Amino acid sequence: MPEPATIALPTYADIELAAQRIAGVAHRTPVMTSRTANARTHAQLFFKCETFQRGGAFKFRGAYNALVQLPDDQKRRGVVAFSSGNHAQAVGLAGQILGIPRVIVMPADSPEVKRRATAEYGAEIVLYDRLTDDREAIGRRLADERGLAVIPPYDHPAIVAGAGTAARELIEEVGPLDVLLTPCGGGGLLSGSALAAEALSPGCRVLGVEPLAGDDATRSFRSKTLQSVRNPDTIADGARTASLGRLTFPLVLGHVADMLTVDDRTLVRALFFLWERMKLIVEPTGALAAAAVLERLLDVRGARVGIILSGGNVDLSQVQAWRALL
Ligand SMILES: *Cc1c(COP(=O)(O)O)cnc(C)c1O
Repeated sequence: MPEPATIALPTYADIELAAQRIAGVAHRTPVMTSRTANARTHAQLFFKCETFQRGGAFKFRGAYNALVQLPDDQKRRGVVAFSSGNHAQAVGLAGQILGIPRVIVMPADSPEVKRRATAEYGAEIVLYDRLTDDREAIGRRLADERGLAVIPPYDHPAIVAGAGTAARELIEEVGPLDVLLTPCGGGGLLSGSALAAEALSPGCRVLGVEPLAGDDATRSFRSKTLQSVRNPDTIADGARTASLGRLTFPLVLGHVADMLTVDDRTLVRALFFLWERMKLIVEPTGALAAAAVLERLLDVRGARVGIILSGGNVDLSQVQAWRALL
């Protein structure tokens, strides 16, 4: 167990402040419903479409919230982020808006669509080998050499608070929920969502959903001891994270009702439903929470269910390979 006394965990008040900072900069994304999805699950489903967020994922919320608070001299020197994709794009875009130089350390095998978008936002990209290099070491060396601030993808109070603003908007718009599900990689989105739901919809059960091959957060949750996973083989590339973090692990333990896992085959079935039936371009990681509900891994009959569709940066060249998993 981490020592909570030594770590200042974010609270709902931080989500309120983040919401004020990102207002007018981040999109207030739409909430979609589907009679077909409701009929299939015998529930009322509300899909919060962060696929339409700037940068194509919820991560812009946290990245902007973190960058806008940096002291002026740090804003001049710049930032460095290491990410498999969406965090990179988010920091790239937030830094562009704020005029902050940024270096992004990305795996050489991250989806082409994400690499290209990051470059288009004007960030300097440093590639590394996911199997042999230590990205944090690379990031820290760059930070030391150039005086850059490291912007972590999830284990940072401003990132968690920013992520929580999506669930805040969802509940504000549709009212109290019985259940709220979010994808889970490093647990920033899940932690922020749980804090928001606890404040705005007391009694709402918040569930995190991760890929079966990378079930470290589920094992951590069950055993109450931090577990990790190494380079899990899953199409949910945004949830290949090794483990929950120093902030997100205690937040998940303290505020989340349960964790669920989804195998890649089930995830692909949900992806095709979202694309074909709901016309929503969601990426695999972004569909984890939806998959748990649509593929009925969870009984939600009669419930009002919030689902965060966390991102939409699909590498369309992969679609045939994914279909082959069915
Ligand atoms: C990063 C990411 C996640 C996971 O978020 P964490 O805060 O790391 O748990 C989920 N979905 C998408 C689309 C992402 O980019």
